[in-house]
Amino acid sequence: MANPLRYSRQTRLPGWGQDGQDALSASAALVVGLGGTGTVAARHLAGAGVGRIGLSDPDKVDVSNLHRQILYDADAVGASKAFAAKAALERVNAEVRLVLHEEGEALAGYDIVLDCTDNFPSRFRLHAAAFAARLPLVYAAAEGFLGQVAIFTGYAADMPCLHCFVPLESGEARGPEEGCRGVGILGPVAGTVGAVAAAEALKFLLNIGRPLAGRLFLYDAREAEARVVRIPKDKECRFCGL
Ligand SMILES: [Zn+2]
Repeated sequence: MANPLRYSRQTRLPGWGQDGQDALSASAALVVGLGGTGTVAARHLAGAGVGRIGLSDPDKVDVSNLHRQILYDADAVGASKAFAAKAALERVNAEVRLVLHEEGEALAGYDIVLDCTDNFPSRFRLHAAAFAARLPLVYAAAEGFLGQVAIFTGYAADMPCLHCFVPLESGEARGPEEGCRGVGILGPVAGTVGAVAAAEALKFLLNIGRPLAGRLFLYDAREAEARVVRIPKDKECRFCGL
């Protein structure tokens, strides 16, 4: 028997209630990339009681990850990130089902996809798969002191896709993990971005509030500034236009 207190601080939110909680436990979210943003996003989704959470990351935990990747501790260094994340999340909430995925697996059965990867080739592949499946893609990115979050639903008539924002051609310009290795990353920026991504996913799953679709949330920790700008659909977009 589930403890009724577990979700009591969120079910009292406007628009949530027990009906919302039941809907959440019947929903599924896929988190791809279990780094600084993905671990925080997955932690919030598991805590909130999303019924099925897919986890995907081919990497192993490195000691240089520990300053920001909150699901791992020193004992996990060298272990598979996906396995270590699953073990940590099981300790948070045994009521959610955690499923490990290889990259490139089908997205069937999921309601939303969180892109917490760190390189454009992976982002482009995941976006193409989510677009084909007509699933919303939560884009979460953090580098240096800067964070970005958006939702891409470019399969909808007036909504931008990822390539209305980042043109297809620009994806080859950078290799995997060049960002964090190159300019570094402030741990709390990754955490902020992961938390905003999780908030957007929960809002979407419960149809609460105004989604970040067609808009970009920008956080600059060095200046202590946050803002939201519009991302228009590009009618000439090579991916979703015409
Ligand atoms: Zn587009």
